[in-house]
Amino acid sequence: MLDEVRDIKEPAVAEPAGLLAQVIDSDTETDEEGRPTIRKGVARDRIVSHSDPEMRHGRKSASRRFDGHKMDVLTDEKSELILGVDVRGGNASDGEGAAPLLNKVQGVEGIEVETLLGDMAYSDGDTRVAVEDAGATLVAKVPPVSNKGLFPKTDFVIDAEAATVTCPAGVTTADARPHTDHKGRPALRFVFPAEVCAACALRASCTTSADGRSVAVGVHEARIAAARAAQVDPAIKALLRRRSKVERKIDHLQDLGMRQSRYRGRRKTRLQALLAATVANFQRLAVLDAFAALPQTEQTEPSFDAELDQLTPREREVLRFIARGFTYKEIARELFISGKTVESHVSSVLRKLQMSTRHQLTRWATERRLT
Ligand code: SF4
Repeated sequence: MLDEVRDIKEPAVAEPAGLLAQVIDSDTETDEEGRPTIRKGVARDRIVSHSDPEMRHGRKSASRRFDGHKMDVLTDEKSELILGVDVRGGNASDGEGAAPLLNKVQGVEGIEVETLLGDMAYSDGDTRVAVEDAGATLVAKVPPVSNKGLFPKTDFVIDAEAATVTCPAGVTTADARPHTDHKGRPALRFVFPAEVCAACALRASCTTSADGRSVAVGVHEARIAAARAAQVDPAIKALLRRRSKVERKIDHLQDLGMRQSRYRGRRKTRLQALLAATVANFQRLAVLDAFAALPQTEQTEPSFDAELDQLTPREREVLRFIARGFTYKEIARELFISGKTVESHVSSVLRKLQMSTRHQLTRWATERRLT
């Protein structure tokens, strides 16, 4: 029956028939006797909307779900300009989008990305390899490993060259058994002798298995271990902290409407993302232009304007944005401070200049060519 629906070639109904077949396929399965039953759980790539078949179930975290698409954003850390955006299925993994978007950006003349900063969702081995193949180095924090209160894998010394694993009690095993990772690729599982673990004083902190402790070693083990070791370096730590600028850019895109797709379909949603990124870049260019015009000495050396000299460099920065028509929220985002801090700078400037309205401030700033 499902195959018949799928095979409908009549142009007027072929597309909805194909969609219907996909919906039935993802929501039903056949039992052992060949009877159709409602599928338990959620089928991979399940269609969640008949009006937008490209929408997917997605997760922001273990408890927060959404239906829709996922947006990738690549920004230049120094200028804070958006270099590329893409829209993928809501159920796509974060890391899978990194290399394709990076490749697109690297293909633009004059742009060369050497280091790609990502959050923990980008730290898996496959993403690291794909980004390296695209010509950049990925810096993303490797998440801590836990093991329900027992020794995590990171407490063991894995020697890839010698093909051995040494446990916290100093026992070394070379008993490597074939294993598959979560993607079905061949891996190894190093097993410690059951009798050694049974007699070990650390056993209660290590394993509950009667067969002894085992440690799985995947294809990217050495790469992940190297990244974990590197992230304690102060230079890498400082680099990781700078990633928060991307979060600020995502906030900006959300303010420009990217919290919700205005269209049906991924192609049009991608167009929406491109338009939002273009607007964000124009706004950013206005900010860069404002500060490029600022003489380098103006913020550090006293001028001959008694009123202006009362203001701190930060208050002048805020004033410059006010004069350019930025909202408090936009100023907060650009200066990396809270909205409350912006309000307090504005109050302070108003008090020092004995003014009462933002309009007066704008006029005052314009007269002094502070815009
Ligand atoms: S229980 Fe086994 S693997 Fe764990 S520390 Fe003791 S000897 Fe090592």
